[in-house]
Amino acid sequence: MSDKKQEILQELYPEDIYHYASKLTLGEAEVLQQTRQILEKEVRPVINDSWEKAQFPFEQFYKLADAGIMNSPKLFEGREGERKPREIYNAFLYYELARFDASVATFYTVHGGLGYNTLLLGGDERQVAEFAPKVANFEWQTCFALTEPDHGSDIAGGLATTAKREGDHWILNGEKRWIGGADTADIVPVFARDVDDHKIKCFVVRKGAKGYNAVPIQHKAALRPVQNGHITIEDVVVPETDRLQNINGFKDVANILIHTRADVAHIATGMTGGAYTATVKVANSRDQFGKKLCHFQITQEKLARMLANVTSAIAYSVRIAELMDEGEYEMVNSALAKMHNALVMRETAALGRGIVGGNGITLETDIARFFADAEAIYTYEGTHEVNALIVGREITGKGAFV
Ligand SMILES: Cc1cc2nc3c(=O)[nH]c(=O)nc-3n(C[C@H](O)[C@H](O)[C@H](O)COP(=O)(O)OP(=O)(O)OC[C@H]3O[C@@H](n4cnc5c(N)ncnc54)[C@H](O)[C@@H]3O)c2cc1C
Repeated sequence: MSDKKQEILQELYPEDIYHYASKLTLGEAEVLQQTRQILEKEVRPVINDSWEKAQFPFEQFYKLADAGIMNSPKLFEGREGERKPREIYNAFLYYELARFDASVATFYTVHGGLGYNTLLLGGDERQVAEFAPKVANFEWQTCFALTEPDHGSDIAGGLATTAKREGDHWILNGEKRWIGGADTADIVPVFARDVDDHKIKCFVVRKGAKGYNAVPIQHKAALRPVQNGHITIEDVVVPETDRLQNINGFKDVANILIHTRADVAHIATGMTGGAYTATVKVANSRDQFGKKLCHFQITQEKLARMLANVTSAIAYSVRIAELMDEGEYEMVNSALAKMHNALVMRETAALGRGIVGGNGITLETDIARFFADAEAIYTYEGTHEVNALIVGREITGKGAFV
């Protein structure tokens, strides 16, 4: 490893004790370093207020575009012409964002993961050429509207939003729920069922479309800065030219979810690293019974368990990223990683919250955010049970969803 890369990675991720991040290139490490600087300088001063007031820090977040987190030439050395950086970089980008804050990482995954992947995998050449560059440089915000009020885990069979073709356009009707960024997005990929062939298709609804209304869900106790929209869609007209041409059934949606579920597994990894780091900071600085908390054996045992969780989650993330880069990848890989990483994230956040004591329920020590936000990550992109059922089907050959 080059001295410079080693220096950057040691500064960024001292908790990566098996040096998984050494698989990054120097250019990728430099983009992550710049990302860290922007997060600390711009977003850190406002993150707690954003959480408390349930307002997303758009102005500060968009400074990340300066680091070129989706499109810096440093991410495309030797792979010019590609639309996405390497998956291994992607894993550490999510790690970096979520280690800082889960809402920042979630907002990014809705835009740069769910939304971007839908446009890349679902669009034809013309559509990709129109949408992808604007999304990659954050000129247009996108999102992903799949879940409905009455269909979450059973969305594959249950999706009830309808699309009716009339000449060269479509008429959409229905409701969507939990859609991150739905109230501010410039382009919203909406999944709907064609009333004629009953197949699921995807339609890009543009900002200001008549009949589209997104109202943020109020009073959330997790990921408060992220606005999750409840969308109503009443006779929204979408031209055939804005129907993503390569999504013609749920198998195409599942292909998108394979990628995005991996992204959320990486977010869980980052939150595990963030909860651990925040806890060590407090354990090393707070005195009780005349010595620092970190001197107590019980505390050290918990810290050791937390570090083991960080290490196993990074290992899952790195390996699934490598498999994706090698083109050998299936849904069970994402499901196993999301299930495992979310479990260790939840345990790590709870252990950290306990170690920090009363201060662990204030936003000042960071751990309270990780603790509350872990619950949302545990549920979205496939709940624990749904991912376990995907893994169970792989183990036994028997689908047990119904
Ligand atoms: C913060 C947040 C952000 C989100 N962002 C988006 C977004 O941007 N776009 C989008 O489309 N969706 C989004 N979602 C929706 C998310 O994907 C769903 O919440 C998830 O799929 C679960 O659906 P549900 O909440 O309706 O729970 P339900 O499906 O109602 O499940 C309730 C419980 O029942 C369990 N369960 C269900 N079926 C089974 C079964 N067969 N066997 C055993 N247990 C079962 C579940 O595991 C869960 O514990 C978001 C959700 C949250 C909370």
